[in-house]
Amino acid sequence: MHNFLSFDTRGLYCRAGGFYLDPRLIVNHAIISHAHSDHAVRGNKNVYCTAPTAAFMKKKFGSKGEYHVKDYGAKFNIGEVSITLFPAGHMLGSAQVLMEFEGVKYLYTGDFKTVADTSCEPFHFVKADVLYTETTFAKPSFAHPDPEQEISKLNNYSGINILIGAYSLGKAQRITQLAAQHCPGKKVVVHSESVPFHKIYESFGYSLGNWVRYEKNLLKENDNIIYVVPPSVYFKHADSKKFLKTFATGWKQFYRSNDLRLTISDHADWRELHALIAYMKPKTVFTLHGDGSRLKKFFAGQAMNVVMLNGKQKEESKQHSLSLFSDENTFR
Ligand SMILES: [Zn+2]
Ligand SMILES: [Zn+2]
Repeated sequence: MHNFLSFDTRGLYCRAGGFYLDPRLIVNHAIISHAHSDHAVRGNKNVYCTAPTAAFMKKKFGSKGEYHVKDYGAKFNIGEVSITLFPAGHMLGSAQVLMEFEGVKYLYTGDFKTVADTSCEPFHFVKADVLYTETTFAKPSFAHPDPEQEISKLNNYSGINILIGAYSLGKAQRITQLAAQHCPGKKVVVHSESVPFHKIYESFGYSLGNWVRYEKNLLKENDNIIYVVPPSVYFKHADSKKFLKTFATGWKQFYRSNDLRLTISDHADWRELHALIAYMKPKTVFTLHGDGSRLKKFFAGQAMNVVMLNGKQKEESKQHSLSLFSDENTFR
């Protein structure tokens, strides 16, 4: 049970099934939890994922490789392992991967959140014996506030355009939808880099509300605009006084050029992680992504075992946060 998944140079490998989960390098069989670039790389031969994830990956990488598109809840097999995808609530198409082998259920969360987000499928609670979870914000100090209240803060400002930094896939669409819904007096303008992803969201039936693509002079003529831009564009304007600036994230390191803090995260916080564990009651929890040490300490001496699967978690955590930037780079 302890060696069901293990890291090798290509990524997280399942020997029993002969496949990888979100591999970092090209492999034959890759289950891709979602289309962010720290989880989905270009060039895998066989890709198993949801329809939106396939659409995002094809937009980013072209359609080379064979895509095996799977519906949530539909069982399929790779090798001897039976697999089912369930919504992870992280972004459109994001999936948790349930794997069943020799009577044991293993769940890989990928990136996930359980809080309400109408820009994607709601998180689905699944029972399993063994949990492989992300631990991006696995510290008690991380308690994300209500996203609707966060976005509504923008209504307190008038007479100045607001610049929101949001990575171009996932966050930009969520922010667009939140702003369109909760800031009715403002006009939501979207940077061209995110527009193709906005259109994919809408093609899957997810309305993002009223928004327009950025056009020259739009900002000169208006002072009630919310302009959603990718990180590189946001930081180019770091010293600008023309905008009220805020970066939508749970990562504290991105708050430096903020005029206002907008804590809107797509990762589970400490409470969400504990709610998941309480529901699932797994025998073992393996932590990936981020620092699992607080969780390990919290459950020390209890029947449930917490194992930090990747020894280089600090390094990996850094890559995870850097992917905020590489997501745009892969798209350019
Ligand atoms: Zn992600
Ligand atoms: Zn990630």
